[in-house]
Amino acid sequence: MSPSGISFGGLFDEARIVARSLGEAVSGALDPTIRLGVTGLSRAGKTVFLTALVQALVNGARLPAFRAYAEGRIAGARLAPQPDDAVPRFEVEQHFRALTGAERGWPDSTRRISELRVVVDFEAHGFLTGSRTRRRLTLDIVDYPGEWLLDLALLGQDFREWSERTLASSDGPTRAPIARNWRTHLDTLDPLKPESEDDARAAAALFAAYLKAGRNDRVALSTLPPGRFLMPGDLEGSPALTFAPLALPEEGGAPSGSLWAMMERRYEAYRSHVVKPFFRDHFSRLDRQVVLVDALAALNAGPEAVADLENALADVLSAFRHGRNSWLSSLFRPKVDRLLFAATKADHLHHTSHDRLEAILRRLVSRAIERAEFGGAAVDVVALAAVRATREATARQGRQELPVIVGVPEKGERSNGQIFDGEEEIAVFPGDLPADPEVALRSGGYQGLAASEDGGDLRFVKFRPPKLVTTDRAPQLPHIRLDRSLEFLIGDALA
Ligand code: GDP
Repeated sequence: MSPSGISFGGLFDEARIVARSLGEAVSGALDPTIRLGVTGLSRAGKTVFLTALVQALVNGARLPAFRAYAEGRIAGARLAPQPDDAVPRFEVEQHFRALTGAERGWPDSTRRISELRVVVDFEAHGFLTGSRTRRRLTLDIVDYPGEWLLDLALLGQDFREWSERTLASSDGPTRAPIARNWRTHLDTLDPLKPESEDDARAAAALFAAYLKAGRNDRVALSTLPPGRFLMPGDLEGSPALTFAPLALPEEGGAPSGSLWAMMERRYEAYRSHVVKPFFRDHFSRLDRQVVLVDALAALNAGPEAVADLENALADVLSAFRHGRNSWLSSLFRPKVDRLLFAATKADHLHHTSHDRLEAILRRLVSRAIERAEFGGAAVDVVALAAVRATREATARQGRQELPVIVGVPEKGERSNGQIFDGEEEIAVFPGDLPADPEVALRSGGYQGLAASEDGGDLRFVKFRPPKLVTTDRAPQLPHIRLDRSLEFLIGDALA
């Protein structure tokens, strides 16, 4: 990294962040403002969660554990124009229509950052006077791909360091087979040869394919930066992503006009024009964060995927840790005071296993906390379904009564050739999670969703979203423990 660029850029960034925080603190003195980040790896459930959360605030839902709501102190909530004009809006109406319209399907997933402001009018307890006072909470919600968090590490690594680390990690037993194509090509590349767009493009394409294979092959392989190679957002197909690590000579710097110099320049451009603005303008401003995790998918895939998930959680936690890292990356860490880890899609389990799923995630998170030496923010864990696509029932098998979940699978063909018409319900024995989280983690412990009433394997069945529950207020989406999540994330601001 170039030292002069960093010190000026860094001080300037610091001044901007401090000035902004002061402004935000003054304007929030009477009425609270919270910037809530929603993240998680691709398919974790961010879009569905945020859509359901906003719907619950604006249209209401069954929310007994969300105290301000249950006590009737929320006078109303509405969407308001977002504060940052340069950020795309989270299209909550469109997502809600997708979930509840005639097609009743899942909305398009998160691919880039987006933002939404919700204004909540509420009555605060007047602790001194005993009377209630009218207040307003401004909740700014920022939805962004969890893959982008990986890039925080790059702020403290120059091109040489990043190349060395990336190469070393691709030698490991799990990664070596999927890295082979890229590494074979890399062996043919002399960093000192003249720069060439064709070489850069070929190396970047093979390197990106390797990173994506790590992400796709298994459920939760802990991922490697650069995050935009996995989730490019608006940079899809852009030359900004045309670089890759090189096997560099041990000594010396990049000769001008060489492939090495070209890759180094592009890596630096990625850091200063892509990574830094995201962390400076968005990440560093968060007050609270929810991290969504598809823990069930990892449990279904076995112990290795569970171990990978634990690594991924430690990575996420370290992005929020203050302290020992490079001063530059710690400058971009937000001062979050609450951090919620949520295991999503709990509606694939019978309610008797919801606490067990929570206990498993709690164990994973506490181990990750130890590894990341995380201290500071309050951390909680919840197993939830932002949109509950199943209901519970009992099925009789001989003399036995078995708890089942019932839902409508999406239209399509099952691996055994059975056709789902997208209308008819099926009952599934979801299987139990082990009561002891250690057993679940050691064994990968869960072979749930293993059988339908007719014994077929339904491990990967995808249920359609449910029909709306009609109430006297507005149509509502059923959920599991969304109210507990709301209470942890914003309940104290509404006290
Ligand atoms: P994102 O990539 O994190 O934005 O993930 P999405 O919110 O798009 O969710 C990915 C997929 O997970 C959806 O298309 C649904 O199939 C499934 N999903 C997410 N949340 C739920 C939930 O609460 N219940 C059920 N049954 N499925 C869910």
